[in-house]
Formats: sequence, C-alpha cells, structure tokens
Amino acid sequence: MATIAPAGQTPATPLADAILDTLVHRIGKDQKAARPHDWLAATIQTVRNDVIERWMASTRDAHAKGAKRVYYLSLEFLIGRLLRDALSNLDQTKAIAEALASLGVDLAEIEEIEPDAALGNGGLGRLAACFMESMASLDLPAYGYGIRYVNGMFRQRIDDGFQVELPENWLQHGNPWEFERRESAYFVGFGGEVVGTDTGHVHWKVGEAVEAMAVDTPMVGWRGKRVNTLRLWTARSLDPIKLDAFNRGDFQGALADQLRAETLTRVLYPNDSTEAGQELRLRQEYFFSSASIQDIVRRHIQYFGDIRTLSDKAAIQLNDTHPAVSVAELMRLLVDFHDLGFDEAWDITRATFGYTNHTLLPEALESWPLPLFERLLPRHMQLIYAINAKLLREARATGADDRAIAAISLIDEGGSRRVRMANLAFAGAHSVNGVAALHTDLMKQTVFADLHRLYPDRINNKTNGITPRRWLQQCNPGLTALIREAVGDAFLDDTEALEPLAAHAEDAAFQEKFAAVKRANKAALAQHLKDLMGLRIDPAAMFDVQIKRIHEYKRQLLNIIETVALYDQIRSHPELDWVPRVKLFAGKAASSYHNAKLIIKLANDVARRVNSDPAIGGLLKVAFVPNYNVSLAEKIIPAADLSEQISTAGMEASGTGNMKFALNGALTIGTLDGANVEIRDRVGADNIMIFGLTADEVAKRRADGYNPRAVIEGSPELAQALSAIASGVFSPDDRDRYKGLIGGLYDGDWFMLAADFDSYAAAQRQVDGWWDDRGLWNAMAIRNVARVGWFSSDRTIREYAKDIWGVL
Ligand SMILES: *Cc1c(COP(=O)(O)O)cnc(C)c1O
Repeated sequence: MATIAPAGQTPATPLADAILDTLVHRIGKDQKAARPHDWLAATIQTVRNDVIERWMASTRDAHAKGAKRVYYLSLEFLIGRLLRDALSNLDQTKAIAEALASLGVDLAEIEEIEPDAALGNGGLGRLAACFMESMASLDLPAYGYGIRYVNGMFRQRIDDGFQVELPENWLQHGNPWEFERRESAYFVGFGGEVVGTDTGHVHWKVGEAVEAMAVDTPMVGWRGKRVNTLRLWTARSLDPIKLDAFNRGDFQGALADQLRAETLTRVLYPNDSTEAGQELRLRQEYFFSSASIQDIVRRHIQYFGDIRTLSDKAAIQLNDTHPAVSVAELMRLLVDFHDLGFDEAWDITRATFGYTNHTLLPEALESWPLPLFERLLPRHMQLIYAINAKLLREARATGADDRAIAAISLIDEGGSRRVRMANLAFAGAHSVNGVAALHTDLMKQTVFADLHRLYPDRINNKTNGITPRRWLQQCNPGLTALIREAVGDAFLDDTEALEPLAAHAEDAAFQEKFAAVKRANKAALAQHLKDLMGLRIDPAAMFDVQIKRIHEYKRQLLNIIETVALYDQIRSHPELDWVPRVKLFAGKAASSYHNAKLIIKLANDVARRVNSDPAIGGLLKVAFVPNYNVSLAEKIIPAADLSEQISTAGMEASGTGNMKFALNGALTIGTLDGANVEIRDRVGADNIMIFGLTADEVAKRRADGYNPRAVIEGSPELAQALSAIASGVFSPDDRDRYKGLIGGLYDGDWFMLAADFDSYAAAQRQVDGWWDDRGLWNAMAIRNVARVGWFSSDRTIREYAKDIWGVL
C-alpha cells in the first residue's frame, strides 16, 4: 500500500510495506506520528500473520492425524518477551530488521519496549515456558493451560536498598499476541452442596459460579515447524451487570459479582517454594484446573466421541501440585457426567495424568485445611475420600503398617486435618517424576518413601532443560556466530552437536575469539547497568553472578558473607595481587518473606560501602540489579564469567539458571545439588568448581546435632565477617539491622552456611587462580559450552514424550 507512504519515503521492501499498512490500518497512526509502541504493535501484528497461518495449519494437522495431544497444566508460565523469539524461530529477524530500518526504526529498540510477560515466579514457570517452545519445536501437538493474570509477578524497585513491590501492568498497552476465544468458555462452580437425585445420580448444587474464558497465545517452535497454543483462562462473572440491581440504582451491588470474579485472575501469588495458604489461591487452582479439564474432555468427545479412549488421545502433565485438583475434577466429570463406574474412571484418570514434583521443602508441599476444601469443593472432597479408601485398601493389602498408612493417606490426620495435594497427584498419575537425578533419588527416600514402596515403578527422573533458542541463539548472537564458524550449523537443530567445539578448547586463536565475544557481552552489560542504575564496572574484571529468587536455601547470604570476608582481606593486604571482581546479584523476594528481604538490603548495604571505599582501589564492586526477570537474565547471562549455584545440598530440586550460564560460557562454582551434579558429570570435574557438603553429609550433620557456633568459632575469617555485619559496619544508620539475621546463623543455621563457608572461600580463591591463567579459564569455559548441550529442553521433552506421554 505504497500510496500511504509520504512522498520520497516509499518503503523499500514488501515487508516494510506490510508493516506500514498495519501501522496505518490496524493501529491507526501515520508514519510521522507513530511512537515506538505503535511500531512495536505494527511489527508484532505483521509477524503475527505468518504465525497465525502456521498455527492454523498445526491445529488442522493434529486433527487430521487424530494425534494424541499433550496438555501441560501449570499455574505459571514465565514466557518473557515474544517478538524476538518468534522472529528468530521463523528466521525473519534480518528481514524485519531491514524493513524497519528502511522506515527509520531500530528493531532492537522496539524489542526492548515489549513488556516481559512475567506470569510466574521463577524456575518452575520458566521451565513451563521452555517446554512450550520445545514441544512446538519437536512438532508435538501440545497445549499449555494456565491463568491470564492481569498483574503477573510484581515489579521490583530498590529504594534505599529495600525491595519495594509495584504492580506490573504488562497489559497496559494491550497484548497483540493474545486472542480471546469467547466461544471457549466454561462454568466453574464453588461451594454449595451435594445432593442425590431420583436417578441415583449425584448432583453438585454449586453455591456460586464464574465463567472461565480462554485467551490463546501462539507458541512458535524452532524453524516455525509448528505453532502450539498457550491457553490462559480469564474469569468473568456470569451476569456481568445484574440489570435489576443496576436499574434500582445499586451500581456497587451490580458490579460486585464482576469484581469478585475478576479478582480470581488478577494476581499471581508472589511465592516461590513457600506455602500460599489463602483461600483465593485454592480458588485459582480449581478455577484453572476445572476449565482446562472441561476443555480437554470437550475436545476429546468432539474429535473421538468416546470418553473411554481419553488416555489414548490425551496426556495431561501436572506441573507441580498446583493443578492436582484436576485429578478429582476429571473423576467428577467421568463419574457424574459420563456415567462411568468409579473403578473404570479411576483407571482412565491414572492413565491420563503425569505429575512432576518440584520441591522437597516441607513448607512448599501443598496441603489445604480440610474444612476449607470441603466448603469450597464438596463433591471433590467426596471423591477424594473414595480415592483414599481405595488407595489405603491397596496399601493394606501389601502389608503397610499404621505409620505407612498415615504417610500414604491423602488426608494428613496429624493436628488439624488437611488434604495433601502431592499425595493426590501421586495417586492419580501413572508417572511421577523428579527434575534432576539427585532430586528424584531424594523423592524416593523422603517425601514419597511409602508411596514409592507401594508403587515402585511410578517414580522416574526427567532432568530439566532450557531452550537453546532463547538461551543461546537469541540472547548471545555473538557466541552463536562464533560457534557456527567453528563447527557448523548442526547445533542449531541438535544442541548436543556442540560437542565438537571441545576440540577447539586449547586452540589459542579460537580462545581469543571466544574471549572477545565474552568481552563484548560484558561491555554491553556494563553499558546497560550504567544507563539503568548509574553503576560503573570494568568489563575486564571477573563478572561473578548470582541471579535467582532470593531464598535462604539458595544462600545469597553465603555469597554476601564471603564478599565481606574478601573485602576485609583486600583492605588488610592491598599489596597482594587480587583478581578484580564484580559481584552481581539480582532476584525478587516474596513480599512476606522477611529474611529474604533483609538479604536484599544487606547486599545493597554491602555494595554501598564496598563501592565507595577508595582503599580497595576498585578491585571489588558489588551491585544488586533491580527487577530480575527473563529479559534481564537474557542480558546478564551472556556476560557472566562465574555462575553461583551454591544452594544447600539436597534443597534445590534442579535449577535451570545453572544450565543457562554454562551454555553461555560461564564457569560454575557450586554445591553438589540439583542438576549441578549432572552438569559436573557432563563438563568433567576439572571444568567446574565444586565445594561444600553433599546432600548425604548435610543430612548426617543435621542428624548428628550440628553446632554452627562451634564451626563459626573455628573459622576466624567467617567469625570476623559475621561480627562486622552484626555490629553494623555496613548499616551505620541502623546498627542492629542484621543482628537477628546473623544471630540465626549462630543459633540454628538450618541452611548450613557456616558448615560450607571455609570450603566456599577456598574455592573462590582457587577460582581466582584459574582466572589468572586465562588460557586455562577459556579452555574450561569452551568445554562447558561444548558439553552442556544435553541440558536442552528438547532432550527433556523427548524423554517426557517417550516415557510418560507415549507420543514419540
Ligand atoms: C532461569 C530463570 C530462573 C531459574 O533460576 P534458578 O537459578 O534455577 O533458580 C528464575 N527466573 C528467571 C527469570 C529465569 O530466567
């Protein structure tokens, strides 16, 4: 539509023409008045046309083949920005960049203003996003099901070193990626009572109902092979404005239902690995589970006619226990609406579901007070009792004693009675998987020991992975280009084909190019941090990075204490040859998690003191980068030299940050926890810095009566750092600020910081030694890149598809 371009500015390409046409006719702006957000919207809508065509073709293809579909149910999808991902996966980055350039627009600039879709807290939600991309890339017909939160993860601001939580208005400019499906809507009921009917059926007379409406987002796979659907539910009241109330002039009454319904999908619970014990949370879980299961059953009946074949045509994966009520919901539909007998319904249910466990932390194992559950979901409570009776009969038949029965039961009878969602998910699934080898072993030994004895074939391992498209190709184009030059393009389709890169590890010329890429990424990050927060850092220093949710088990505090100890040493011995380091921290703390928030403040207090101390000559810099999210991770990770993965052994189920760093050529300093164990096995023990207690040793120390005070007294370096922090050296404005935090280490130290401190500090000095031998460092970093291709989420998804879903 060249006619609309002003004279002399005729677009150079048909693509530019298309973008301009979209800008004018869809966005309603002319080229002169268009602002960056208008260009972003026009670009996305233009790219979207191609996406939509492939999307429809993918859906038609699945129908035509009568293919089994995979349904991934997750309360969180941390997908981040989509434009760069879609362009890259469709191989249109260059064409769009050129088209925009011909219109005087910089693609990189508009990519930066796309909101980061943060519908998740951390690793669990990001895993779901990587899985969606890999399922499309492997051409699996799959749907993601979740909630369309109006306010996703909060935006974090740091005010005077303290975390401040602000609402994230990611939808304020609209969302050009999403499609409302008004025809795909379901009633979801709550409360009320269960009554018998004349026909001997059971009827749940719900107390209240809301409507779940589908909002779909296309998920583009690598090379555009397939486009799958992420279906997120939004809640609406059944009767948006009660006309009678409205007519009486009672505007508030009229809008109350609408408001109540909308509250359901307004906010993401800002918790990660801590219990969210609110009724609203259970309502959210049931709301999205019910809508998703109804949608799955409706689709099955529509295409295959017979509900009895459900498990042949549908595999439903539960991402942690948040959707576990789906087990009872499917049973309800099968028994109450499809007239199946209980036993037959149970066989179908178990054959359909798989369950992924993500944590062993007792405080994160979901359970609901029985009275609450019964009040909100009376029919489901009945079904859970029936399932439990069957389960416990089976257990007794194998000779389980009372202790084992109590552990297996779906109801926790200790103290106030609670419904155990992990046990429900375990019982209702044919597969229960952990997310790293160590985690899976610990599942068998701890939380699920008795259920494992009863069903010894059910637990299996699926070590997590990350999509190499986002976490290498898109976030690190420099390294991607260098690898292509060195070993060809095979790794673009099979990340394990990075392996030949290891042959270049000792090649000085290649090392130099590799180091130049890293250096450029570091310079870019340094510039970004200068613009963002006025921070000045030297790209020649070692970038030592710990970015992840702030949690005591992840031990950011151990890192900060070691930083304080190092600061002390540099001050005492400025004449020594210290390695210049930049310590970067980022991460959000749950709003109610006091110690996590205090750790953020401490990082900022230490940063202020260290960064302004002329006595250390800039050898050490500390920074807390605000508002950690996917987009920030994409900037920081390619620039990292050292990856901090230092959780208390046995507590991090897998981790995926660890994989992203290694793939981008950072060396890991870490404990033998989660997937770190398997990363060590892959890269080789000589190419990773492992320190600290093992999971077995942690358990043994705790069992033997761990005495942190004695440990601290035996380590002068640790004792001095702790006393500096506790006495207010870093908080002169409030000298007691950290007394409680540090006191807790002397008194309990559940996370074993003291036990691991000396080992950690020694490991850090050994890392300094590696840094001084740059040839050695680069060789190790190159070997890391070459050998972590196995941690692609393509490999993980292939394993799920073969072993659990039966679709490959
Ligand atoms: C990868 C990722 C995580 C998970 O990091 P861990 O270090 O494994 O805890 C969390 N948040 C974001 C934004 C991520 O990209």
